[in-house]
Amino acid sequence: MPEPATPSTELFSSAAQPTLNGRRCRACGYVFFPPQSYGCEYCGAPTDQLEPKSLSGLGSLASFATVHLHQGKEIEAPFTVGLIVLDDGPAVRAILMQRTDDGLKIGDRMRAVIVETNSEGGRARELRFTKEETAR
Ligand SMILES: [Zn+2]
Repeated sequence: MPEPATPSTELFSSAAQPTLNGRRCRACGYVFFPPQSYGCEYCGAPTDQLEPKSLSGLGSLASFATVHLHQGKEIEAPFTVGLIVLDDGPAVRAILMQRTDDGLKIGDRMRAVIVETNSEGGRARELRFTKEETAR
């Protein structure tokens, strides 16, 4: 059976500067990402109270850890996982474009990037984050 075309379930846009497709609770205003279908995690409002909310892929680095040994085949160590608190509220954990923590510090400005990866299921698009270059 072919997959139905449902762009609203995409996690992110494909623009050069991608936006993330989050959700906002009409009852309490809570914003979250990634979307889930259990209702509001904060106030318990049902799913029909959740509306799409586009989040800018910009935020600050809240924590990070470098993985030096990894048995997975999809990614080669070392790589660094970061927790990014988006300017729009939600915190997102993602692999960073910086392979090691060299030059990274808490509070660094980060932006979302979409990369194409080769996984066992074929090519996939993945959300990653990279340090914002502050060449000013
Ligand atoms: Zn709510």
